[in-house]
Amino acid sequence: MLRGAFIRLSESPRAQAFVLRNGLARRAARRFVAGETLAEGIAAAREINRAGCHASLNYLGEKTTSRGEAEGAAERYVEILRTITGERLDCNLSIKLSQLGLAIAAGFAEGLVRRILEVARSGQIFVRIDMEEAALVTPTLALWRRLWQDGFTNVGLVIQAYLYRSPADVEALVGTGVRIRLVKGAYLEPPSVAYPRKEDVDAAYRALATLLLRRGTYPAIATHDPQMIAHARGVAQAESLAPSGFEFQMIYGVRRDLQQSLAREGFNVRVYIPFGEQWYPYFMRRLGERPANVLFILRSLIAEWR
Ligand SMILES: Cc1cc2nc3c(=O)[nH]c(=O)nc-3n(C[C@H](O)[C@H](O)[C@H](O)COP(=O)(O)OP(=O)(O)OC[C@H]3O[C@@H](n4cnc5c(N)ncnc54)[C@H](O)[C@@H]3O)c2cc1C
Repeated sequence: MLRGAFIRLSESPRAQAFVLRNGLARRAARRFVAGETLAEGIAAAREINRAGCHASLNYLGEKTTSRGEAEGAAERYVEILRTITGERLDCNLSIKLSQLGLAIAAGFAEGLVRRILEVARSGQIFVRIDMEEAALVTPTLALWRRLWQDGFTNVGLVIQAYLYRSPADVEALVGTGVRIRLVKGAYLEPPSVAYPRKEDVDAAYRALATLLLRRGTYPAIATHDPQMIAHARGVAQAESLAPSGFEFQMIYGVRRDLQQSLAREGFNVRVYIPFGEQWYPYFMRRLGERPANVLFILRSLIAEWR
């Protein structure tokens, strides 16, 4: 219920205007967002590398409606790639197709993604296409397939365990060699397309993690859920899959203790670091994922207010 309320708030322009004006909320968002500038994103990636983890930078933005804005985001990604190379960071990129104009025209978005991938390829940097609402899954997979067939193998995908279609998508993808990040799914989907109950999402996550660890290519187990992590570790051990054969991924600001302890044990841990001015929808989705996050933010806001 709380999750749904926050996802609806993430789509409300009025709530957005209110939160963006509120200095305390901006500071609270900093727990999950590295900052608004590229320099802040890069500084966070450097710190994550120093702590023994890999990084993935994301320039915040989604559902872009103007070509100019989408082109601006693509240029920003190119700038990020050049900075990663220049600073020799252990860092890749995560992008969202709706930010690059997928809803304007798929061909237009594809042109921008190709430009990003070319620059990434020249710096040997991997690019992950985040997965968004269920309605965008088919166009995202279609765009990825065209890129893959044209030889862009430095691009990976995300599969959301809550979608009923995901086992079939994974079966179709697993033999291609594409790197897949497995997540539970962060959007509000109707029961006609996604499991509404957490137990079912968790069961689907376990099944897909098993499949990817057995037959996938360097899968990314992206979760903060200790039970999912224990499951993945068990499968990897049973399959004699070395820790170098997969990675765990977590979000900036969430379970830093777990990130560090897994890294110390010798697992690859990648931290997803978002930055940029358009942090509002991302921040709201993170709050909705865990009531404790809301309490944490409220407590710090009250403490500051006093
Ligand atoms: C690296 C990364 C990339 C992602 N990319 C996408 C994407 O492209 N598309 C998409 O739809 N979703 C994406 N997500 C979000 C994902 O779908 C989930 O919404 C999010 O990860 C929460 O699910 P969970 O697996 O962490 O566990 P949940 O089921 O939310 O929580 C299970 C348990 O995990 C722990 N936990 C979870 N969150 C927290 C927290 N904030 N603080 C402390 N403990 C916590 C708690 O013990 C909790 O009981 C991504 C997530 C990660 C980590």
